[in-house]
Amino acid sequence: MATTRRQFLRLSALAGSFMAFNKSKAVELINDHSEKVIKPIVISTWRFGIQANAGAWKILSEKGRALDAVEAGVKITEADPNERSVGYGGRPDRDGRVTLDACIMDEFSNIGSVACLEHIIHPIAVARAVMEKTPHAMLSGEGALAFALDQGFKKENLLTKTSEEEWKAWLKTSEYKPKVNIENHDTIGMLALDMNGNLSGACTTSGIAYKMHGRIGDSPIIGAGMYVDNEVGAAAATGQGEEIIRIVGSHTVVELMRQGFSPEESCKKAVERILASAKKRNKSLSDIQIGFIAINKKGQHGAFCLQKGFNYAVYSPEINNQLINAKNLI
Ligand code: ASP
Repeated sequence: MATTRRQFLRLSALAGSFMAFNKSKAVELINDHSEKVIKPIVISTWRFGIQANAGAWKILSEKGRALDAVEAGVKITEADPNERSVGYGGRPDRDGRVTLDACIMDEFSNIGSVACLEHIIHPIAVARAVMEKTPHAMLSGEGALAFALDQGFKKENLLTKTSEEEWKAWLKTSEYKPKVNIENHDTIGMLALDMNGNLSGACTTSGIAYKMHGRIGDSPIIGAGMYVDNEVGAAAATGQGEEIIRIVGSHTVVELMRQGFSPEESCKKAVERILASAKKRNKSLSDIQIGFIAINKKGQHGAFCLQKGFNYAVYSPEINNQLINAKNLI
């Protein structure tokens, strides 16, 4: 294989710094495939990422734009009533209202977001409309709904019978207790690198079940729930939003990748930062989950979580839409 100019420079530097030229290291560098870009690729949080990735892949494999792929992908989860933490069928807040958070970001750093949006099955599409059709980045509550209706989105009841029954059962104790990994939260965060080498991300959720009405998590906050820097990489978060917001988690992960850390190392360092911050406040994180996923410009991916049990789905020319278990910190 021909040595690229960059590899040649790295080899020269290496030779200069050692008295005796280390031959095996040189061979290793010549065979270094790190300049190779794996594309297209899409990754997303949790097991529902498999179905969502499949939707995104249809667009990516036909040389479509990452932005269109992530929107189409997460819409699959939003529309699925059996996914009880995203979109239609999501668990309501403690007043029985399904309130949705979502954000989207493209390769040009265009951003759009909706928070505490009710009655619209695809908050991610409304977030995209905020991005493309308004001078703003975020709309919330009534204003977001009015905008959505104005844009032609249909007003629907998102509270399914199952979610309503569960909520009524919950009302008997009204005990607010998030559980790790499953049951009462989880977000779909999706990141894609398209054939043109451009990145985009999307993130959508009904948030923590039985939250206070008006509570907004990390997911619609650009930089916390999701972030894209087309020169570096992209990241998304899931888990207890209040902890993720505190360190502006996804932006932190992207900045760590900018410093040269791998996607997995970057996610790990962000989780460590959350743990360290909780320790300072004497707060135990034993009952909560935090998970990050990330990809860089080369199409390398990684994830890391606080507790065991977080996984993410990867679809690329090398991985045929598989779930990967993230390593955990505690
Ligand atoms: N991050 C979401 C929130 O706090 C929930 C989750 O992903 O588990 O609303």
